[in-house]
Amino acid sequence: MKITGLSTFRKYIELKESHKMRSALGVNNGNEFVVLRLHTDEGVDGLGEATITVRWSGEVPAGCEQVLNEVLQPVVIGLELGDFTELNRRMDEVCSRNWFAKSALEMACWDVLGKVRNLPVYELLGGAVRPLKFENRFSMGAYSQEHAARRAAELVNRGFRTIKVKVGTVPQEDVARVRAVREVIGFDRDLVIDANCGWDVKTAIDCVQQLADCRLDLVEQPTPDGDYQGMAKLRQETGVKVLADDICFDLTHAKALIENDACDAISVYPGKNGGISRSVEILDYAAQHGIACSIGSNLEWDIAISAMAHLVVAHPNMKVEEYPGDVLGPSYYTERVVSNPVEIKEPYTTVPSTAGLGVGELLLG
Ligand SMILES: [Mg+2]
Repeated sequence: MKITGLSTFRKYIELKESHKMRSALGVNNGNEFVVLRLHTDEGVDGLGEATITVRWSGEVPAGCEQVLNEVLQPVVIGLELGDFTELNRRMDEVCSRNWFAKSALEMACWDVLGKVRNLPVYELLGGAVRPLKFENRFSMGAYSQEHAARRAAELVNRGFRTIKVKVGTVPQEDVARVRAVREVIGFDRDLVIDANCGWDVKTAIDCVQQLADCRLDLVEQPTPDGDYQGMAKLRQETGVKVLADDICFDLTHAKALIENDACDAISVYPGKNGGISRSVEILDYAAQHGIACSIGSNLEWDIAISAMAHLVVAHPNMKVEEYPGDVLGPSYYTERVVSNPVEIKEPYTTVPSTAGLGVGELLLG
């Protein structure tokens, strides 16, 4: 079975009022998506999604569509479905980076393969190594102290046992916000903070030390891109556990993080890492070096969230029991786009056990 072409469309979706995000990356009221349909010579189509945030990956929706249609499509036409090494090689040969665009095409290949073999993607990946229903953390924006405290109480009521708070804004406000959340959630729940590269190493060490009595269970991406030594120093000087996220797009980045002793865990997900097969490469490499992985999020919609969920249940090094991830994206949005959406009942997500990505038909486009 061979790839014969692809088609794409774009759609902007608002976040629910209660889920609008503020972080070191700015304010986020909604996201633009490129939805992809992959065509094959056996008439079976696959679905893919690029979740686009320019501040995150440098990709923009129009550019993503152009890359998919004009750069990647010509080199993948005629390719045998299932040869992911060759797919990645061909894509990289004509296009550097553009991880989210590549992931849309790659996940659509998994969708087709599963549909043809009548197997869910997690079976194609070797089978489920954890229950199909798994628990998530909630990622809260960098709100005012009062707003954060109110939100934390709501999240506790909704059953979240791990709460992440965005920091990396004004250090004094960051510290006050985190302290307010810890006071509300108590010490029976885990507290994670995420600076999205927004602190320098001195500020990171200073803020973490000020919060010593708040028991920070994990500090996500404290320092900017390239500052591996800063991350290592934060770990050494404060003893806090560090999760790498925003600066790890590919295996080269994962290797640099591990060689520099920069983190305790790495956040991996198909969009950011260029697809499911590329994510598996990082997960495997990290496992060989004793580094756990978790799953981050770029607030995916209905297709990319399914790719994430399949990967979570299929890979032993996706240690969501120890480091819960954010596989909740579609619950942030005002609309859903497929006939069989991934079940999200906060704090749980359940991966579909139907064939392929298992999301059914597109409801628009
Ligand atoms: Mg993050």
